[in-house]
Amino acid sequence: MDVCYIATPTEKVKINRIGLLLKGHSNNPYVSDKEKTLRAEWQELKARATREKDVKTIDAAAEKRSEQVSEMEKSEPKILRDLRAGLIRHCAVSQLLDPWYMNSNTHGTGAANINDQQSKVEKGHAHHLHITIREPGII
Ligand SMILES: [Zn+2]
Repeated sequence: MDVCYIATPTEKVKINRIGLLLKGHSNNPYVSDKEKTLRAEWQELKARATREKDVKTIDAAAEKRSEQVSEMEKSEPKILRDLRAGLIRHCAVSQLLDPWYMNSNTHGTGAANINDQQSKVEKGHAHHLHITIREPGII
């Protein structure tokens, strides 16, 4: 099931982080300019760390990634975070893929991955919340 909008009586959220990969000023309320800058700096450090395999650069890249993720989380609407937290506990829900997080096995032990909009699956979920439900009663 794909969800594009969620709303409460006081808030409406269009689930969308298109613009993360575009150059220049962000026009998306869920992607800040600061996040885009941190993301570019992280990618540069990550590439350098891969090339040079130097511990200092590897640590700097990890630190930058964590700054970028914090900034991403600031723009994440609370009602989406709350919805995801409720869905993840439901036994019939097996996957939650959205513009912020990709969780391909909600009953697994691993944490959800950040949606970096790099793979085909990530790009395909940059603009909606995908909920996979395994319920024998529904077909
Ligand atoms: Zn989908």
